[in-house]
Amino acid sequence: MSAELKITLAPTLDFLGAHLALQGVLDIFRFDAGGRAFVVDKGISYNLELTNTGGAVLVSGVVKANTVAVCDRCLASCDLQLQGELQEYLVIKGSQADFSDADAEFTVVDANEEIDLAAYMIAALIFELPITVLCKDECKGLCPRCGTNLNTSTCNCDGELSADHPFAVLKSLL
Ligand SMILES: [Zn+2]
Ligand SMILES: [Zn+2]
Repeated sequence: MSAELKITLAPTLDFLGAHLALQGVLDIFRFDAGGRAFVVDKGISYNLELTNTGGAVLVSGVVKANTVAVCDRCLASCDLQLQGELQEYLVIKGSQADFSDADAEFTVVDANEEIDLAAYMIAALIFELPITVLCKDECKGLCPRCGTNLNTSTCNCDGELSADHPFAVLKSLL
């Protein structure tokens, strides 16, 4: 296991039809996204296919990670299972590839350059992150006045917020 997955396209993948399957687990136990930290349990597993489609190598497949995140409402730790899809063309610099698939993600690389696929895998996981992380859909969050976790206890604060309270808008969303 390794925290990086480095490949070079030459000499095994730089010709039309060349193919390589990669499976394993990356020893990455944490990544950051959007100012939040995600702890990865047991690393990031991957199952990738690399295929030279003529001047470019298509990296496709699935990456999975069981992460521990922090609930955005109550700040408790919660499990978050992520599964991302990779679909990335590595376009070989100087090739005659007619690469006009505007929708695909692509990177221009040198055939002898070391490429760390771990970066693409993490990007695929980050792409799947929910906008809001919740420990459960019905999470009641923290009392905006005293900070009590309303999932596990109650507090004596008046539940109603004045309209000009900064959390009033938030409350209407909940
Ligand atoms: Zn929560
Ligand atoms: Zn309270």
